[in-house]
Amino acid sequence: MTLTDLGPAANATTFIGIIGPPASGKSTLATSLSRALDAPIIRPRDAIRAVVADEPQLHELFVPINELGWVSDGALGLAVRAAVARIPAPCRAVLLENLPGDTFQVADIHMAVRQRGGRFVVLHLDSANEVLIARGTRRRVCQTCEADSTADPHEPAQPSTIDPRMCGRCGSPLSVRPDDEDGVLRERTVRHRHYARGVLRMVTALGIPLIGIDAAATPSAVHAAAFDAVTLLATPAHHGG
Ligand SMILES: [Zn+2]
Repeated sequence: MTLTDLGPAANATTFIGIIGPPASGKSTLATSLSRALDAPIIRPRDAIRAVVADEPQLHELFVPINELGWVSDGALGLAVRAAVARIPAPCRAVLLENLPGDTFQVADIHMAVRQRGGRFVVLHLDSANEVLIARGTRRRVCQTCEADSTADPHEPAQPSTIDPRMCGRCGSPLSVRPDDEDGVLRERTVRHRHYARGVLRMVTALGIPLIGIDAAATPSAVHAAAFDAVTLLATPAHHGG
């Protein structure tokens, strides 16, 4: 089923923001919703690559501001605005993975979506810090399977059942994501909570539907909760009486 199946009254693009602390399952949920809704995914790092590919002269705006390769909030905002603007009009649903990340991005996306007559909903994955940090610490990536980003793999790898240090798909040794290293993960979680307070306040103030999802649930339960909420919101209020 796609959002198109919901009928002509649902023909506006629904922008689905997915936010939550590190290791809350944002990437997994974005991937499963993308398949279920036949929707593209906007990711901050892809948005930055696209801007620089399109306008190489802007490269200097995206110089990393720390050893983790983060760019300035202003540069990220620019890249996200450009990515949202590039979504073609007939697109029924778009996933925003790990976006909006700050109050300015909430406002930017809200205004861009309103301008094109679309909808904006935010899914908030959350659980206790200790649950998420324990999960993030166990998380591994495969530099072989994720060949297009060898320097910076992000997608969770499936460990081998025989030797969990090896990739279940290709047999290569798995590695820890640099930003999941000890201390760094905790720092990212604290940083997320700081920004999230403002994001949630702004989302509520603008009347953007906000759906809280228990990140400790299984990926399929998280997907089902998100899918039901999104399809319900995309259905006109008067639908079914
Ligand atoms: Zn692999």
